[in-house]
Amino acid sequence: MPCFERRLADNLLPRDEAESWSAEQVLRWGFERFGRDIAVASGFGAEGMVLIDLAARTKGGLRVITLDTGFFFPETYALIEKVEQRYGIRVERLRPKLTPAEQAQVHGEALWARDPDRCCLLRKVEPLKQKLNELAAWVVAIRRDQTAARAHVAKIEWDSRFGLVKLNPLADWTHRQVWEYIRTHDVPYNALHDQSYPSIGCTHCTRPVTAGEDLRAGRWAGFSKTECGLHTRVAAMGPPATEAAHESA
Ligand code: SF4
Repeated sequence: MPCFERRLADNLLPRDEAESWSAEQVLRWGFERFGRDIAVASGFGAEGMVLIDLAARTKGGLRVITLDTGFFFPETYALIEKVEQRYGIRVERLRPKLTPAEQAQVHGEALWARDPDRCCLLRKVEPLKQKLNELAAWVVAIRRDQTAARAHVAKIEWDSRFGLVKLNPLADWTHRQVWEYIRTHDVPYNALHDQSYPSIGCTHCTRPVTAGEDLRAGRWAGFSKTECGLHTRVAAMGPPATEAAHESA
């Protein structure tokens, strides 16, 4: 059993205690605990930019990873370059095994329009899984009020799907807090946010929202899908030793 899993098995995750911690405290705990074996995963949305800014203030040598599906908006690629310059980091781009053209050859044209779950699996989940195998912990910018699947995440938890610790430092933040932070600290953000795109993913699966629509209504419009699969089946549970019992319940 890897060393970090042994520590988890000893019930050393401060899961309950961390619920009263600020985002900075959660990040500091993660960076002190995991050193170079922890990375921030970001798609460079508003929340992701807040997280990167907070993390950069907390730690030098920050690691940021992104799932470059090959379908980002030009504005997103421009923001990644801006992030690298501003924070003096090199964003680690995780790419799918298949190029867009190869995917079309193997799985047919416009897979995202026919089977977005499979497309997300190929272009997001599988590359992420490979990277997370190398890490002891990852940090993401999800908020509890974004989707039903995110409503019960803990600030520090065991991610049973990918087998490592997951930090959600912004779990209890609101949309308003995110934008207050961005304005107060002059954090760069995706230009599309000013064009009615509150949530931004791949070009094929993101549209602008209209007045009164949910902030994530522009993602996978026309499908019941609300998540790309990275944050589903997050276990609200303890260490690996107890997983089997919980999952078979
Ligand atoms: S968001 Fe859309 S285009 Fe991007 S990987 Fe998922 S289904 Fe494919």
